[in-house]
Amino acid sequence: MIARRAILIRLPRDKCDVNYIRRLMALTNLAHRGFEVWVPDLPKSIQYQIYGFKSYKNSLMFGTAPKRWFAKTWVPLKTLRVYGDGTRKGATDALVILDFKKNVIKIHQVCKNEPGYSIEVPMPRWVVERVNEGGDIKYAMIGLKNDKPYLALVAERVVEPYVPSGCRLVVDVNAWNNGVAYGIINPSNKIAEYSPLRPNLRLIDTWYHKAEKLSKKLGKLKRLGLDSTPEAKGLRREIKALRRKVYAYLRDFAQKKAHELVMKALRLRAEVLIDDMIEESRRELLEMKLPRGLRKVYLAETRRFVKLFTTQLQWYGVPYEFKRLPSTVCPICGHKLIQERGRVMACTNCGFKAPRDKVPIHWALKAMPKAKVSPLDESPMPLGSTATHEPTPIAHVGEVEAPRRNT
Ligand SMILES: [Zn+2]
Repeated sequence: MIARRAILIRLPRDKCDVNYIRRLMALTNLAHRGFEVWVPDLPKSIQYQIYGFKSYKNSLMFGTAPKRWFAKTWVPLKTLRVYGDGTRKGATDALVILDFKKNVIKIHQVCKNEPGYSIEVPMPRWVVERVNEGGDIKYAMIGLKNDKPYLALVAERVVEPYVPSGCRLVVDVNAWNNGVAYGIINPSNKIAEYSPLRPNLRLIDTWYHKAEKLSKKLGKLKRLGLDSTPEAKGLRREIKALRRKVYAYLRDFAQKKAHELVMKALRLRAEVLIDDMIEESRRELLEMKLPRGLRKVYLAETRRFVKLFTTQLQWYGVPYEFKRLPSTVCPICGHKLIQERGRVMACTNCGFKAPRDKVPIHWALKAMPKAKVSPLDESPMPLGSTATHEPTPIAHVGEVEAPRRNT
């Protein structure tokens, strides 16, 4: 089984010609549609590479065709890897060179239409980590996202799914106000650990309400016809910065926690059960009568969390499965649970009682009454994994990770 993970690296804008990259993307779009257009003023080496991908059977990038005619299509590029011991792997005519000796990535000719033009960016730690895990960066892509130039790197690794130890890690994904609850069920069917993972809600609320307050102030200025004054401009900037801060914080939190949980599963050789009933959380938020903006914030990056989590589980060969684990139905007798104060769920029929976030863990206990320990199983494929030997288009690589900032 081949697992893939991807990362986006922002390229220095002053060293890239955005219009040139846009033209390359248009050419790639045409290639997807079976057109070979040889543009005289574009380097032949790039065009050869694009059309080379078309006939290349295991093409990663040409797995799915863009739906619209002028859809922005990322430009697939081969890579050459130069390792610390001097060995080289990949295409000798590659325009993207990963130099592990000097710890840089060299990008030739795709950033600006000038003969021999190249730029150098530092090697992200992410790449080194993937390579140390036995991964290989065979492909790269260049393209624009929100009109900014990026290089995408795709890591590939052959994974052997592991033999489960009988431990299960249950992950219940909710909106951030309740967070992601996880529980560990040990091989003797006891809940060994249980904890909700919640971001700093007070911080989020503070930022959110501050932005709201400033928006009101800005609205007032607008009504007075003063929306192009320096004061209004300053307010607008401040609001934008606050909102960006909220989302950046949640994105970071999601990424960190997804990674931590994957590492936990790996350490325990656990099987993973995921309940991603984000819809249920949405309904719950509606019932709480929260302002619409805050509702949106609490749901932000929850889907991304699930994507990141499953992509990494695949990468490390951890078997996982999606399972509906209700939190409002009694896991003992199936009676409807009522919610008491402090989000405690109680069954009026059999007396079962548990914190709301822990109910799914009890369901998981019931769903898998006996751990499946089968060391001689011939096909220990991940239960919910979709990974196969088929070429996977980039759209299926899972969530693209953000490089960690060096602090
Ligand atoms: Zn009951």
